[in-house]
Amino acid sequence: MFYCEKCRKKWKWPEGLSGSHGRCELCGKTADCYDIPSSELPPSKTEKKPKKKGPKLSANGTPVKMTPPDPERCQCERPKGNNFMTLGGKVGLARCRNKPIVIAREKAATHEDGEIGEMSLCPHCMNKMTEQMGADFAAFRAIEHDGEDKGVQR
Ligand SMILES: [Zn+2]
Ligand SMILES: [Zn+2]
Repeated sequence: MFYCEKCRKKWKWPEGLSGSHGRCELCGKTADCYDIPSSELPPSKTEKKPKKKGPKLSANGTPVKMTPPDPERCQCERPKGNNFMTLGGKVGLARCRNKPIVIAREKAATHEDGEIGEMSLCPHCMNKMTEQMGADFAAFRAIEHDGEDKGVQR
């Protein structure tokens, strides 16, 4: 690493014994620089800081975290309480094995983070959801089984 006095102070790097006039690798200015092997410098000073891990964002800017609807299998998961508050899919619940006919989309987010859940449902589970959550809970759209659900990436 070839760096000038200014950059040395900035990074609190050592003053080298051997120095020469040249272009600083950090700021690009030509000055009297120290020439120190990078291996002798404190580690990671020159490395970029790892980016903070944020939520993954989809194309429209909403966080992608939940399981996308599966047009091939009903995503109803039945916990012991037989409650439907699992839109979006928590794991470890008994999942229905029926073939779904609709994708239910919450009209209002029930998740803490404000995400709108979507899940595929077979006729049986669709009825159960309507029964338990009310007809206004979710909007349904039919799954076309000749193709894929167009709004879903798998
Ligand atoms: Zn410099
Ligand atoms: Zn089902």
